[in-house]
Parts: sequence; C-alpha cells; structure tokens
Amino acid sequence: MTEKFVSVFPAVQHRHADGEIVTVVLRRSKGSYSVDCHGCQTRFVYRKPRPSRQSHHPSPLLREVKGNFDASDH
Ligand SMILES: [Zn+2]
Repeated sequence: MTEKFVSVFPAVQHRHADGEIVTVVLRRSKGSYSVDCHGCQTRFVYRKPRPSRQSHHPSPLLREVKGNFDASDH
C-alpha cells in the first residue's frame, strides 16, 4: 500500500486505473485522519496545507468581496 498525502477533507476523490472516480472518507486514527482504499492499494493521509511562503496581497479585483464568504454560515 502506498501512502499519499492529501489536503482535502473529509472526502477524497481519486481516479482508479479503470477510470472510475472513487470517493473515500477520511477517518480519525491515532490522532490523524486517514483512509485506506483497497481498490488502488493507497492510503490517503490528511495533512494540513502548509502555509505558503509567498506573501499574499489582496487582489484589487477581489477586494470588495473579501471577508464575505462566511457571512451566511454563522
Ligand atoms: Zn482507490
């Protein structure tokens, strides 16, 4: 089984050799999240995305919508 790190959560979509798109759901185990897919012998391990080393500057085009994405969720 090969290990593959993913930064999506909780469902991992991937493609098998036969072209089928398979969705697996990460489960908590030993303090981390992982799931084994026996169809392709791959273990998906969740890993938080690393902070980018590149500094982010607000886009002039997106400035007006910044911060509004979660407004209706809470
Ligand atoms: Zn698979």
